[in-house]
Amino acid sequence: MNDREVLTSAFKFHGHICWASAVGVRAGLAALRELGVRRAGSSADLHCIIEIGNNHGAQCFADGVQYATGCTFGKGNIEKAGWGKLAFTLIDKRKERAVRVSYRPGRHNLISQSAFMKKRALGVPPTEIPEEEAQEVVNIIWDAPEDEVLSIGEVKAYPWEGHGEIMGLRPCDNCGEMVSVAYLRVVGDRHMCIPCSGYCQ
Ligand SMILES: [Zn+2]
Ligand SMILES: [Zn+2]
Repeated sequence: MNDREVLTSAFKFHGHICWASAVGVRAGLAALRELGVRRAGSSADLHCIIEIGNNHGAQCFADGVQYATGCTFGKGNIEKAGWGKLAFTLIDKRKERAVRVSYRPGRHNLISQSAFMKKRALGVPPTEIPEEEAQEVVNIIWDAPEDEVLSIGEVKAYPWEGHGEIMGLRPCDNCGEMVSVAYLRVVGDRHMCIPCSGYCQ
């Protein structure tokens, strides 16, 4: 896939076309290039600490980063710092090196003034905005020189202390649903999932 194809596929995964997920894709691809690595195929390769928070605009950034880097919620190789920022640190676990990439607002006035963002500000969901208007804002990001939309830090040493993956599932003795063995709790002589056990965690 070339970069534009990665972007198109990322929008399919994300659910709509938007500038913030495009920044995420562009930033994710730049981080892979800086580290000289490929998209993570397993959780052994890369780890991402992404700085978005909850319930704020432009969180869509994270879907672009996940799609481009292969650091995903399901693999457990991405975590949220919760700072409300469009930035992340990508760690190459094998070489113990990392790079931080953040959104640089060199074209942000063009984005703010776009028909897309005016509608978003009025509460129109992105799925109800014409595709051409969304694409116009994506192109502002995609066609800009890299240093106007991304700030790329130096590749630095990042010691990685691996936590091995815990294998094994077994059914809860109460509800019968499968649970990772690490999450079973002992209640008398039975092994239960956390909600059935009554324990908080
Ligand atoms: Zn979006
Ligand atoms: Zn249960």
